[in-house]
Amino acid sequence: MPKNTVQFQKGLSLKRFLDTYGAEEQCRERLFNARWPTGYKCPRCGHTKHYLVSTRNLYQCRNCRFQCSLTSDTIFASSKLPLTTWFLGIFFVTQSKEGMSALNLRRLLGISINAAMKMKHKLQHVMKVADDSFALNGLVELDDAYWGGKRSGGKRGRGAPGKTPFLAAIARNEKGHPIHMRMSKVNSFSSQEVRKWSLKHIHHQCVVISDEFGPLRGVADSVAFHGAVNTSEIYHNPDNKIFHWINTMIGNVKRAIHGTYHAVSPKHLPRYLAEFCFRFNNRFYMGAMVGSLIRYSAVTKPMPQRILKFAEDEG
Ligand SMILES: [Zn+2]
Repeated sequence: MPKNTVQFQKGLSLKRFLDTYGAEEQCRERLFNARWPTGYKCPRCGHTKHYLVSTRNLYQCRNCRFQCSLTSDTIFASSKLPLTTWFLGIFFVTQSKEGMSALNLRRLLGISINAAMKMKHKLQHVMKVADDSFALNGLVELDDAYWGGKRSGGKRGRGAPGKTPFLAAIARNEKGHPIHMRMSKVNSFSSQEVRKWSLKHIHHQCVVISDEFGPLRGVADSVAFHGAVNTSEIYHNPDNKIFHWINTMIGNVKRAIHGTYHAVSPKHLPRYLAEFCFRFNNRFYMGAMVGSLIRYSAVTKPMPQRILKFAEDEG
């Protein structure tokens, strides 16, 4: 699809969003259908008949009498915000092309900065879960990249001081267009680490190309073919297209994170990378991203408080 098609697509208008999700009852119905697409199912015994305890908005199983709320066991669990606020947050996070900081969410939703940061991190977590649910397929370009530390120069590989390593991969279609991408923080660049990552994120029938950086060869025995390309040759060729997209996307993600969030500490990096990739992976379906994120939110387990705790230094 040409670039302009992405740039000028309509997305979901705020008017249409509010018509669909402007009332709490509409949001509850949407969440119910996302959580139990084939009808209510007791989380404890699997029974399908229930009573509604309407005074407390609880569902009670007719078989084992277990009570649950609509939001329990979802990413919305234990939040005091109404679903209308959550869904509006989902609208802003998915419909803004460059992403949205917690400060902006606070302003637009009229909630506290603490609530906005929690929302932001929970939604990023859902985006990560959504993307991690499928493996990259087709022709994949793989590269090592770094966040933070010195802007240029420095050592490559293990022990690069002050830098957080992450793996970046982009899947291209037969025309060479980028389709999906995945970027994940890794503890270090080692063959074992790359192999572990590729088993999870790259389909075993993939053809993968990378440069000759040693640890990237870790991908070789978990995919159909791995080619290590000598880049000193290809970059001299002005018509070269190899690694064009992976280099572009690594540059874009760094610019986007710097531009919207100023500084992101290494511990938050995985979620910011996931947010950037989710938006890219769904860029042809901007309007549908709202429904998609609601669906994934309904099936993503709550985030433990201890993980959310370190969400406090975002700018
Ligand atoms: Zn039950």
